Order: sequence, then C-alpha cells, then structure tokens
Amino acid sequence: MKILVTGGAGFIGSHLCQFLLDQGNEVVCLDNFFSGQRRNIEPLLTNSSFSLMEHDITKPFTVTVDQIYNLACPASPLYYQKNPVETVRTSVLGAINVLELSKKLGGIKVLQTSTSEVYGDPDIHPQPETYHGNVNPIGPRACYDEGKRCAETLFFDYWREHHLPIKVVRIFNTYGPHMALDDGRVVSNFIIQALRGQPLTVHGDGSHTRSFCYVSDMVAALYAMMESSDFTGPVNLGNPAEFTMKELAEKVVAKIGGQIVYNATPQEDREGDPRQRRPDISLAKSKLNWEPKVDLEQGLDQTIEYFKNVL
Ligand code: UDP
Repeated sequence: MKILVTGGAGFIGSHLCQFLLDQGNEVVCLDNFFSGQRRNIEPLLTNSSFSLMEHDITKPFTVTVDQIYNLACPASPLYYQKNPVETVRTSVLGAINVLELSKKLGGIKVLQTSTSEVYGDPDIHPQPETYHGNVNPIGPRACYDEGKRCAETLFFDYWREHHLPIKVVRIFNTYGPHMALDDGRVVSNFIIQALRGQPLTVHGDGSHTRSFCYVSDMVAALYAMMESSDFTGPVNLGNPAEFTMKELAEKVVAKIGGQIVYNATPQEDREGDPRQRRPDISLAKSKLNWEPKVDLEQGLDQTIEYFKNVL
C-alpha cells in the first residue's frame, strides 16, 4: 500500500514511517518542519519506498495514496503555545484537508491523532472515551485542546455526511527517541537536564500525575487502529501506569544522577496544567487487542541512550 503520514518527520510520525516501511509499504511523509526534525527521517531518505513532501497541512494538497495517518500538529505545550492561532489552523484546516483528500480519493481510510488534552483538566479519573472533558475554551492550552476537539468534530461530521471510513485515536503522553531536544515535555526535559548536569525542573510540588507510553507501543496501537474494520473510535491510546512528576524525576536521577528543584516555574506560567491524567484503555484492549508492553524503566533506558548519542 501507499500510505500518507502527515507530520511524518515528527517524534511519533517518524517512528510510524519506519514501521510502515518495515511492513513493506510505500510511505509519503508530509511535513513543514515547524516541529518535525530532518534528523528523524534522515535514515529513510535513501529508501526508494519513502518520499518527502515538504508542505504545510493548512494548505490543500493532493497525492494519490491508499490510507492517511494525520499526525501533523505541534504537540508539546511549549511548541503549540508559541503560535496559538497557527496551532488552531493546523488542527482544523489540516483535518479538513485530509478529509477532503480521502473523499476525493473515493473514501480511503483516514486516521486522526487526537489527544488526551480533549479531556482538559479531568474531573473523572481515569478518563474513559465517554467522558466529554473539562476544557477551558479561553485558556492558554485551548488552541491545542479546542483545535483537536474541533478536528474530532470534523471527522465525525464527514463520517455522518460523507460516510468516510474515519478512525480517531486519543493519544496520551508518549515518549522515546526522536523527541526534540527543546521539545519542553517532561520526560525529555528531565533526561536532558540530568545528562547536562543541570537541575531537574519540577513544576509545582511534583504531585501532578501523568501516564507515559513508550513510542513503539504507540506506533503498534496506531497501526492496529488503522487495520481495524468498522471501528471509528474515539479510542484512548496510552499506558495506564500512572506516576507523579516527583516519582519520574527520582527515577531519572536514579539512572543518571542529578538534583531535583521543585516549584521551578511560577504558578501563573502553568495555568491550565492538568493535575492528573491516566487513560482507561479497556476499549483499546477489547477492540484492538492491544496493550502497552514497554514499562517506564525500559523505556527510560532506551530514551536515555538516544539522548546521550544526540548530545
Ligand atoms: N513538567 C515539569 N517539568 C518540566 C516539564 C513539565 O514538572 O520541565 C510537568 C508539567 O507541569 C505537567 C507534566 O510535567 O504537569 C507533563 O507536562 P508535559 O509538558 O510533558 O505534557 P502535558 O501532559 O502537560 O501536555
């Protein structure tokens, strides 16, 4: 098959491109390198089954493919808040452009990578797909959260109106090799800080929780979702093992060494930061026969090796 991966030079996208090539597919990677990195796809450029389309997803485009994975969007709070209007445009216009392409190609499968951020600062824990979320529509995270929520709306409207075979996944915190050095997310931040001999910057008292999924598990889940038949989702994808940021910092220090600094960022700079997050993955287990295999210890070791090499 010939498969389009938008955001294919990004963190998860580049692993997905590699995985699809390994399965014997042709892959077209579309990226504008706003947050994607050339380094991530460098090894793929010599593969004759791989091609790169340098293009901004907010502008219509055409390419003949059999399936579309839509991953194009800056996903770390640092990046998506840099240019919030562009973040909304990327989610919303990007969704319309891939849906229109699917329609034009006769209704090919199109998978939207949505996010756990659609749940906002959740009142229900862990979060099942039936929970409609607690998003502040005018907060600093809204450009991403509401953009992704609107993209979900568009996917389901195209499904109802045009009967497109859509797939919607909600990705929870994911980590691993190919995260950008300046990504700003907690796992890469802590590892890079420790490797550089700098203090690990825990926001607040470290009681915030997240659940971290290793990237190879996430790619396997995206593939399982695409290959499923008659299942639109939305489905949560993530690792339900939940840790406080204090625990995460301590794990990184145990592996690399270093010091932890609490309250590293003023409260006002963390407005809208969800206090806790953990996926309920019962639906993914039953519909996709998928669950994560790599635990945080193993995943951290592999991520540390990667950043050691990059640094
Ligand atoms: N965080 C932290 N130190 C950092 C970066 C993030 O303590 O250097 C915290 C952040 O406040 C949040 C959690 O780690 O509670 C996860 O943040 P991240 O930006 O990785 O992802 P999010 O889940 O918020 O999108």
